[in-house]
Amino acid sequence: MDAHTSALLNENTRRFVAKPKRLLIGGAWVEASEGGTLDVFDPATGQAFAKVPAGGKADIDRAVAAARQAFDGGDWAVMRPVDRERLLMKLADLVEANAQELAELEALDNGKPVTVARFADVALVVDSLRYMAGWATKLGGETMQPSVPIIREREFWGFTRREPVGVVGAIIPWNFPLLMAAWKMGPALASGCTMVLKPAEETPLSALRLAELVQEAGYPAGVFNVVTGLGHVAGAALSSHPHIDKLAFTGSTEIGKLVGKAALDNMTRISLELGGKSPMIVLDDADVDAVAAGAAHGIFFNSGQVCTAGSRLFVHKKKFDQVVEGLSNIAAGMKVGAGLDPDTQLGPLVSAVQQERVMGYIRSGFDEGARAAVGGEAGAGGGYFVKPTVLVDARDDMRVVREEIFGPVVVAMPYDDLDEVARRANDTPYGLAASIWSNDLTRVHRLIPRIKAGTVWVNCHTVLDNSMPFGGFKQSGIGREMGRAVFDQYTELKSVLMAL
Ligand code: NAP
Ligand code: MG
Repeated sequence: MDAHTSALLNENTRRFVAKPKRLLIGGAWVEASEGGTLDVFDPATGQAFAKVPAGGKADIDRAVAAARQAFDGGDWAVMRPVDRERLLMKLADLVEANAQELAELEALDNGKPVTVARFADVALVVDSLRYMAGWATKLGGETMQPSVPIIREREFWGFTRREPVGVVGAIIPWNFPLLMAAWKMGPALASGCTMVLKPAEETPLSALRLAELVQEAGYPAGVFNVVTGLGHVAGAALSSHPHIDKLAFTGSTEIGKLVGKAALDNMTRISLELGGKSPMIVLDDADVDAVAAGAAHGIFFNSGQVCTAGSRLFVHKKKFDQVVEGLSNIAAGMKVGAGLDPDTQLGPLVSAVQQERVMGYIRSGFDEGARAAVGGEAGAGGGYFVKPTVLVDARDDMRVVREEIFGPVVVAMPYDDLDEVARRANDTPYGLAASIWSNDLTRVHRLIPRIKAGTVWVNCHTVLDNSMPFGGFKQSGIGREMGRAVFDQYTELKSVLMAL
């Protein structure tokens, strides 16, 4: 790591980055069985600054066995819900106490602005763990009054139990590394499951630091295991493992289908949070300045590397030019820089691969006849920068309109009437989210049921809350995270019928 970067880190972060990394399996820190390592790169400079173990199939086997053993017997299996709640609360406190270090690790590893990491990512992790901790004591079944009409001579009663699904395999992406880990571990640990986490190869550091905090909180060995490694090696071994009971995946639709099929071979339960191409729909009564600011957040937050990114902006033709101008002015004024620089508003993309992917999309847009109202080029320096970009003059069949770009690129398109915009907004294989910008209640309410998406925001975009279920329609996934709904994915429902 260069001296400039190092000077921006607090001492704990520097110490963690410098020390050798290990896998956490069965409560012990171990090397990868085959001994290999993966380099970790700083997206702001393109330089490798750390190494993590390249876990393989044998490591996944060990981790799943440890998680299995912890689930089937020992302290965790008999722990009362109230004690699981306390442990998760303790972990949340530890994350909060180490917030600055975790935020710096996210900034260093992913490239995102450190202030965003601190006050969005890490703050949301703390909130999420506390919210899920509360559910540990509130999950239960129902009692029924069975009639059993064909056996009239007996009396019956029935009830349901919610039981933890078992060993959870979690595979997560690099856009919100710590938060995606928390979204899986909160419900898993609240409901009494054990788990094996495989973080993204680009961003493994915060998961390893989190694993240290899990140890510090006092979780029994084997409840939480982390195996860093490559997706097609460690990830594939985990998703096809016969001894996991549930696979929780967040990432691309392409890999989601692959892991889903592998899991189904073992009838492993799956939840898949996948890609999106979310529309932001601006009605003709909307306030131009509010929309421009909201749309800027909708697309540029986390440099556009957000599954719910508002990457298609539909504006009524009456307001189109004004909204594009307002949004372009905001984009032109954004400070693009290193995540650790406190003034940065837009960090680099996570990797050279992602930068090239996004630039490839921008070029394809130009080739097909679109034009950049602002941006449209990579940023200067050795980092993986792409300038915030607003594309116009686009047609619905262009690749930039149809495919997930996962970068700071929005396509702005005018429309004439609500029927037209509802049809075009839904004309995508994805269905993760959408936003509607208007204060006309009648038209907003008429539009909401017509939008095929798991979340519809009104006058805001990418605003998440633990109480709100989150997930996709169509090819954006299967199942819901957050809210009470997530426990459908982490528990089995057992029906008990008793003859008296
Ligand atoms: P990805 O390949 O879907 O990665 C997600 C996770 O799956 C990572 O941990 C990855 O490991 C793992 N993985 C990859 N191949 C696997 C396999 N064969 N079996 C099991 N696990 C596997 O996503 P990506 O490559 O990081 O990004 C590519 C595109 O996906 C992005 O440009 C974006 O469009 C989309 N994406 C969407 C989200 C979202 O939140 N919906 C998040 C990230 C990316 P490795 O890290 O080793 O590959
Ligand atoms: Mg990948």
